[in-house]
Amino acid sequence: MAPLEQVTPSKAAIRLTHLLDVAFDESSRFPVDVPSIATAVGSQFKLDDEITVVEAANLENFEGGLFRLEPGRWAMLYNEQLKSPGRVRFTQAHELGHFLVHRLLQDEFHCSQAEVAGYEAQRKAMEAEADEFASTLLMPVKQFKASLAGQAIDLDMLSTASKKFGVSLTSAALRWIRSTEDSAVLVLSSDGFMNWSVSSDRALKNGAYFKTRGRVVAVPDGTLTADQEKASCRLGERLPLKMWFENAHPDAVVREMKLHCDNYGYTLSLLHLGNGDKVWAPRDWNNGP
Ligand SMILES: [Zn+2]
Repeated sequence: MAPLEQVTPSKAAIRLTHLLDVAFDESSRFPVDVPSIATAVGSQFKLDDEITVVEAANLENFEGGLFRLEPGRWAMLYNEQLKSPGRVRFTQAHELGHFLVHRLLQDEFHCSQAEVAGYEAQRKAMEAEADEFASTLLMPVKQFKASLAGQAIDLDMLSTASKKFGVSLTSAALRWIRSTEDSAVLVLSSDGFMNWSVSSDRALKNGAYFKTRGRVVAVPDGTLTADQEKASCRLGERLPLKMWFENAHPDAVVREMKLHCDNYGYTLSLLHLGNGDKVWAPRDWNNGP
C-alpha cells in the first residue's frame, strides 16, 4: 500500500465506497453504518493499525475523538448527545477520516466544532479533510446525485436526501452546493446575521458570494430570510435578485428557500440563481473573488 501521507480524503472514501457498493444491496446500503466499518477497515485494508474500540463519551465541548491506545490499536469516541443522529454519524465518519488519512501524523485527535475557528492552519486543514472524507463516505457522489436527479433543487428534496443518507439537512445542502453545476448560494444565519455562507463554483464565478469570515454581514432587508413572520419556505419564492445582490440586473430573479430550525436557533437559506446572472460590482467585472 502507498504511504498514508499520500492518501487523500476523497480517495480513501471512494475506495471504501466501492467495497460497500459491492457488499450491500440497495435497500440496506444507506445510511452508512460507520462503527462497523471502523472496526473492520484495518484488516480489510491490511493496515498495521486497527480501531478496536468505538464508544460513546458524552463530555462537554466534545464532538468526537480518535486516540491511539497502544501500537496498532486505536479508539474512536463520539458524543452521542449531539443534537441529532445525523450529527453523530457525521462525527463518527469524520474520526474515521482522521484514522485513514492522518493517523501517522498524530496519536490523538480531539474534535469539537466550537474550537475549529481557533485551530492553527495545519489543524484546520486536517479538520476540513476529515469533513471531506465524511461527506464523501456518507453521501457518495453517484447515489447522491441520483437521489436529486431530474428536478430543480429545493429544501424538501434536500431534506428527503438527508433522511436517506442519515445526515443533517445542513450536511446534505453543503454536499449539494459543492457538487452542483447550478449557480446557488447557501447561507446559515441567526438573528438576522450570517454565520457562514458557501457558494457553488458557478455562483463564485458570477460574483454571487458573501465574505463572512471575520466579518459581520447582515441578511438584507426585504428578503424572505429577513421576514420573521415566515418560519419556512421549503419550495422557494421568487424575488428580484437585487434584494440579495445590489449589482444584479434589475430583471434578474432569484428563487429563495428557507428553513428555520427552532432547536438550533438558526435559519438555513438556499438561493438559486439563474446560471447567467452575474452580480459583480461594475469595477469588479474582470476580477475573480
Ligand atoms: Zn477532527
